[in-house]
Amino acid sequence: MSLLPALTGSFSTPAAGNPTVAMMEAAYEHHGIDARYLNCEVAAEHLGDAVRGATAMGWVGFNCSLPHKVAVIEFLDELADSARLIGAVNCAVRSNGRWIGENTDGQGFLASLRSIAAPGEARALILGAGGAARAIAVELGLAGASEIWIANRNVTKASDIANLVISQTSSACSAIEWGTDLTVPESATVVVNATSLGLPGSGDVQLGFDAIPAGLVVCDVIPNPPDTPFLQRARQAGATTVDGRGMLLNQAAINIKLWTGVDPDHDVMGKALDIAIADWAHP
Ligand code: NDP
Repeated sequence: MSLLPALTGSFSTPAAGNPTVAMMEAAYEHHGIDARYLNCEVAAEHLGDAVRGATAMGWVGFNCSLPHKVAVIEFLDELADSARLIGAVNCAVRSNGRWIGENTDGQGFLASLRSIAAPGEARALILGAGGAARAIAVELGLAGASEIWIANRNVTKASDIANLVISQTSSACSAIEWGTDLTVPESATVVVNATSLGLPGSGDVQLGFDAIPAGLVVCDVIPNPPDTPFLQRARQAGATTVDGRGMLLNQAAINIKLWTGVDPDHDVMGKALDIAIADWAHP
């Protein structure tokens, strides 16, 4: 590494549990990329200063994690298509002196799903209507998914996403109010937990797997712990599962490609991620 590496990093709060830095630095080292990735604790009221600081210091890109994914937009110059449709940015790229906002969360999810099933043929039930659900629904729609159902406690938020998908893609999409009696639609091929349920101490996802369609693929966005109780129940019921670790890894790899042009080695990043997750669980 030179004495003046390219700078990248993440702005979020709380930032201490963010394992992305381990994946990024491992990839930079493995590929001989002369860059660093700094995990930065940035409070909401300092986000504008953080972006201006990144500009002043010549950063080539940064990630935005919670709670900054929407608020950061006012400090950027332009939005790429996915970010514009989703209305949130998790990755900013410096290009010709301008900050371009990208959203690679949904693309990271699709890359994981593709290892098991074709998104273009999916009939997907998405649980949740927050930022992750919105990114996944939009990318599934852009990939040509046949049908999407969005289930959420707050059905108005689910309807907002359904209307967005219908207006911007060719997929059929509808909203479901998530009560106690939610079941997997008979024609579903994919179920995605896109809520925060599954994070330690947050409780399990209330969805029965008593009678599931044959060949069902069940996915979770929770990266840590990767094997959530929800995925364990789905496997016991006969489903194939896809965890949130892969989504996190894939979106991080896409970010490196956007910032440096290098398609990074996923095995190298995955090993670094697993060590960081284990260290975080047992410091
Ligand atoms: P938001 O806060 O935007 O949305 C949270 C969603 O979870 C809402 O739909 C909310 O429902 C729902 N929810 C929360 N608690 C409950 C509950 N007790 N019962 C039913 N529904 C509940 O969060 P995000 O969408 O940004 O993030 C969701 C998760 O996705 C996070 O855990 C995050 O870590 C993960 N994520 C993972 C990524 C990866 O790369 N693996 C990338 C991005 C996010 P309501 O609207 O009714 O309140």
